[in-house]
Amino acid sequence: MSNKPFNSFEMAQSQFDGISDLLALDGPTRDFLRWPMREYQFLIPIRMDDGQIKIFRGFRVLHNDARGPGKGGIRFHPQETIDTVRALAMWMTWKCALMDIPLGGSHGGVVCDPHNLSLREQERLCRGWVKQLFRDLGPQIDVPAPEVMTNAQHMLWMLDEFEMIRGEKSSGFITGKPVGMGGSLGRLEAAGFGLVFALREALKELGIRAEDTTASVQGFGNVGQYAIRLFQQMGGKVICVSCWDQKDGTSYSYKKKSGVDFNSLLSITDRFGGIDKKRAADLGYEVLPGSAWLEQDVDILIPAAIENQITHDNVKNICPRVKIVAEGANGPMTAEADKVIASRDIFLIPDILANAGGITCSYFEQVQSNMNYYWEKDEVLGKLDVKMTAAFHSVLELAKEKSLSMRDAAVFIAIARVAQACRDRGWV
Ligand code: NAD
Repeated sequence: MSNKPFNSFEMAQSQFDGISDLLALDGPTRDFLRWPMREYQFLIPIRMDDGQIKIFRGFRVLHNDARGPGKGGIRFHPQETIDTVRALAMWMTWKCALMDIPLGGSHGGVVCDPHNLSLREQERLCRGWVKQLFRDLGPQIDVPAPEVMTNAQHMLWMLDEFEMIRGEKSSGFITGKPVGMGGSLGRLEAAGFGLVFALREALKELGIRAEDTTASVQGFGNVGQYAIRLFQQMGGKVICVSCWDQKDGTSYSYKKKSGVDFNSLLSITDRFGGIDKKRAADLGYEVLPGSAWLEQDVDILIPAAIENQITHDNVKNICPRVKIVAEGANGPMTAEADKVIASRDIFLIPDILANAGGITCSYFEQVQSNMNYYWEKDEVLGKLDVKMTAAFHSVLELAKEKSLSMRDAAVFIAIARVAQACRDRGWV
């Protein structure tokens, strides 16, 4: 494993610096976009179930709102730091700009481990987070969403607190709500389907029919499952899926040369995306080490689990047949591996583009909540397809025009759009 400092703000800044050079950004614009516009660090006192008061640290960082209200997740994590939050906020600015949705980038969190908190304590924490920040949140200011270890229930508690304080309904204050309580149909499918919409365009570009391809996928959670489902509906074959085994504390790959059967695999998968090893073997799957997914003789690799999975050490194990890598996870590849992928002429669909279906559908949820009018699932997914396809082609076109990698082209477009918005507003 490489020691790539994922989520570090320095890494996000260094990526920004590289693209700023390509864009020849002026000094003030660089200084402005290199740092968040606003940061909040605060303490949240919570009365625990045993009657004691415990103090939690909370954050919210708004990196840039030149193109619209801030948008970004709230992470509950024991190792949360202000630098992680800054990096994620900056990446959200770029992702929203790349997808050409009228939102800025933000991110937030609380240093805590929800595993060690009762539901009532989690509720108090959600309400406490909003109490500290409500003046600087709102549908026209900054819109939170679920992220690592936060879910639809947390979003609903936060919404309820916000509405209590404001004295009015304000469903567009937050996204990731349950369907029926302001959530959007299609949100579950969005990240995985969005990835496959982009993959479909990449296959067209390479002149390959989906029916003639095979894929191997790391991760069988939200992104992996829906990506596999749509890819198979397009006629593609997935021969290997890897996931984490909580009991054994390691990962395994599950292989079937004739193609995995999505529904039967799903029936032996827990809600965290873990596949039951014994039952998979009973269903005829080869149970291989966790690393095997990367080494398969396939056309397409989809890392859709966690960061830092394709590294300097294992990138050489990728088979010569691989033509496309579509990054479902955020940051699944280290910078060193990225260089090797580029030198091997593998078509990369970078994370900022490939997994942008999630944020795009969050935006759709916000729009529907603000209107208090909800679309059918087909309408949501149809609009998602339009956005993903347009973003894919804008990146591809620029990559060709300027001889950039797909990753650099994606960030180039995003930064150019945000810089332009700042200039148009007269900020820089
Ligand atoms: P999830 O928790 O639903 O699923 C994660 C999957 O990865 C599980 O199957 C788990 O077993 C597997 N996994 C974890 N560690 C592993 C390891 N070391 N080796 C192999 N498999 C491992 O998560 P998700 O929502 O599917 O998100 C996956 C990735 O996509 C994350 O990087 C996330 O940030 C990113 N992402 C998700 C969304 C979304 O809307 N869900 C949007 C954008 C980006």
